[in-house]
Amino acid sequence: MIPNADGTEAETARAMPDAELRVRHLETSARYLFTNLLPLPLVIAGFALILGQWFPAPPLIAWAAVTTVTWTITIGVIHMFLNDPRRIENATRWIASVSAAVFVSSLAFAAVSVLFWVEGDRLNNILLYCVVAAGLACAGAQSAPSAPVCIANLTPYAAIFLAISLLNEPFPINLSVVFLQVCYITLVALYARSVWLMSDDMLRLRIEKRELIDRLQHALVDATNAKRKAEAASTAKSEFLANMSHELRTPLNAILGFSEIIRDRVFGDGALDRYADYGGHIHFSGRHLLGLIGDILDLSKIEAGKRELDEAELDLAQLAHDAFSFVEPQAARKNLALTLEVRTPAIVRADERALRQVVANLLSNAVKFTPDGGGVTLRIARDDQGAVVLTVTDTGIGIRAEDMKKVLESFGQARHDIANTDERGTGLGLPIVKGLIELHGGALTIESTPGTGTTVTVALPPDRVIDAPPLVTAA
Ligand code: ATP
Ligand code: MG
Repeated sequence: MIPNADGTEAETARAMPDAELRVRHLETSARYLFTNLLPLPLVIAGFALILGQWFPAPPLIAWAAVTTVTWTITIGVIHMFLNDPRRIENATRWIASVSAAVFVSSLAFAAVSVLFWVEGDRLNNILLYCVVAAGLACAGAQSAPSAPVCIANLTPYAAIFLAISLLNEPFPINLSVVFLQVCYITLVALYARSVWLMSDDMLRLRIEKRELIDRLQHALVDATNAKRKAEAASTAKSEFLANMSHELRTPLNAILGFSEIIRDRVFGDGALDRYADYGGHIHFSGRHLLGLIGDILDLSKIEAGKRELDEAELDLAQLAHDAFSFVEPQAARKNLALTLEVRTPAIVRADERALRQVVANLLSNAVKFTPDGGGVTLRIARDDQGAVVLTVTDTGIGIRAEDMKKVLESFGQARHDIANTDERGTGLGLPIVKGLIELHGGALTIESTPGTGTTVTVALPPDRVIDAPPLVTAA
């Protein structure tokens, strides 16, 4: 058993892929067999020559030929198995094929003792006993790592070993010889079993080691990713703080500068209009500061996952209508055509303050970045999936493709030259919109062509739509 990454002990035997383990056993056995069987034709030829003193050539040649053919087939099957890249998937087929081939070739070789036994010739008999006994020991040693192959290899030798004494020795000598043979066969089988256990342990350890290395590699990748994320978050936080202090310092400096002028009566006691003017600047900076701090707090809450939605049923069309009234004065100053297109009734379950903020930010951007005489359209429709889609389209300066990522980051701004000095924001509007919409399970997309205009789309998922009138697809 090896410990898991979480410290618990794992039953590796249970987790071990069975087919893989069986194939690894077969591989070990097949490799031993492959190298040890290679010189077998020489042994066959040697026996045929020795047995030539008792038998004529034709039956010996026939036996040698058949044994060599079965040997060739076995070597071929083992070779194909060791070279099959899909041998784990084909585990059962390969175990059966190798076992069958080994069984047939062992049977053919061991048959020498039955076929060429000479009644009453002890030299011949002892030689044949030795051949089968040695074959049995070799079979046990070579094929032990795979139990099915080992059984297939041992069975012909054991059966023929017992058969030659039972059939050829007189009673009761045959029984005492059989007893000794059974002891010998048992010893070989026990030896094969201990080899099998050793190889099983080794193979399981090898597989466990590989799994452990895999797990360590995954853990290393996870740790590296987590470290990279932590570093990126820390950099983003530092950048956010640097930007924030810059944005806060500008209006604060204005407040301090103008209030000092008033406090010290720099222009004398009579310059009331001028002081009132400066008071106006201070008021503007204070309001700007308040809005900025509100935005920073909103964004921080969203990013920290602390912004909770106060959900209620609300009418998007009404909400859009209200938002229009806020931008109308500014649009009128720039002579912009404002259009509201409500293509579908849309009662949604959402946080009202959040959605008002979303629509107000998008409309204010559209008005801010559209030159005089242009147009801004807010459209409410449904898409094919039933999601409510709110689109703000303008004919303004547009956003360049390379700025797309930046404008969605905190304090990220692109072209600003068109905005009036007092309209210049801080680059927090779009990240807030994105955060709020994603909190609702929706998505924000921006399409823009520099010089032509921008379309910002926010989609609220279908499960937020309360009434479900027939779909009205945007034309
Ligand atoms: P804030 O919203 O915090 O007052 P902002 O409007 O500059 O300031 P965002 O609303 O986040 O910040 O927008 C980021 C930038 O994206 C803008 O500065 C502008 O460069 C660009 N942008 C946003 N909307 C439009 C638009 N409709 N047309 C062209 N550019 C846009
Ligand atoms: Mg904005």
